[in-house]
Amino acid sequence: MIHPPVPLGTFPTPLEPAPRLAAALGLGPDDLWVKRDDLTGLGGGGNKIRKLEWAVGAALAEGADTLVTTGAPQSNHARLTAAAGARLGLRVVLVLRGAPGASRSGNLALDGLFGARLAWAGAVDQAGLDAAAAEVCARLRAGGSRPALIPFGGSSILGARGYLRCGAELREQLPDLRTAVVALGSGGTMAGLVAALGSASVLGVDVGALADPAAAVAEFATPLTTEEVAPEGLRIRRDQVGAGYAALTGPVRKALRLAARTEGLALDPTYTGRALAGLHAAVRDGGIRPGEKTVFLHTGGLPGLFGHPDALAFAEEGATVLDG
Ligand SMILES: *Cc1c(COP(=O)(O)O)cnc(C)c1O
Repeated sequence: MIHPPVPLGTFPTPLEPAPRLAAALGLGPDDLWVKRDDLTGLGGGGNKIRKLEWAVGAALAEGADTLVTTGAPQSNHARLTAAAGARLGLRVVLVLRGAPGASRSGNLALDGLFGARLAWAGAVDQAGLDAAAAEVCARLRAGGSRPALIPFGGSSILGARGYLRCGAELREQLPDLRTAVVALGSGGTMAGLVAALGSASVLGVDVGALADPAAAVAEFATPLTTEEVAPEGLRIRRDQVGAGYAALTGPVRKALRLAARTEGLALDPTYTGRALAGLHAAVRDGGIRPGEKTVFLHTGGLPGLFGHPDALAFAEEGATVLDG
């Protein structure tokens, strides 16, 4: 049985025109729209809210009193799980890769502010992180708590349901939408959009979080639609990963400045910066063409800028001193 979602965000999110960014990318002024899923409300906002409404809804229905989830130290999903727990009066434990560092800025600072407890898992892969989370859950249960484990990135068939609704909002806001461009991390966001809009209408820009992102998207999307979702039928670009998930690439630097200086839009170095760099590359190679309606999904993530020393230094370099 599917439990109802718990309301956490503010919907529908706005869809805004971006004529100056469109022109800078080589599109017509009416071609590009920004879906403001950075404005979902709770905890600083971002795409994870839509997925958490379903995942936390199920946890509550099952009687959980503690939310447990996993992620990188600067995980937006971990931050928003912490915020959801605070809003609902649930305890939250975040099982994070790595070890505590000197800095707790960005998402980590917000995790602390929202009152989450942290469990550091060391330098482990996803399987190691999942094992550490299972251990944390066992310990909590032994102590009399009722933990609910929310999967990496909040992505599952259930979590992806949150993006069915976003797809429906987009259909209403821009009926002649040709392509929605979105960062692809753990896969649930793209999966929900694919289920709502069809494989041909969604371009995912991989950030390098998964070994096989197409398989994950197809797995989460298939049960949510009558359309056949084949991994090889998905539009996914893997050319923006660079040296890896945490690296700040040249195209991302360019994308961060472009969005900021044409539209006053603040992007993050890991997800939305890569998504815009991928959109730009798609315009250059003809995957996205002038005259077609394109939506850029702003999925949030701004706290990550403040937790990424290279990106922060790059942003600060932009502030030149007025001479004379
Ligand atoms: C997690 C995240 C994404 C990717 O969403 P997935 O559902 O994990 O693929 C995109 N943008 C931001 C800002 C995120 O935090």
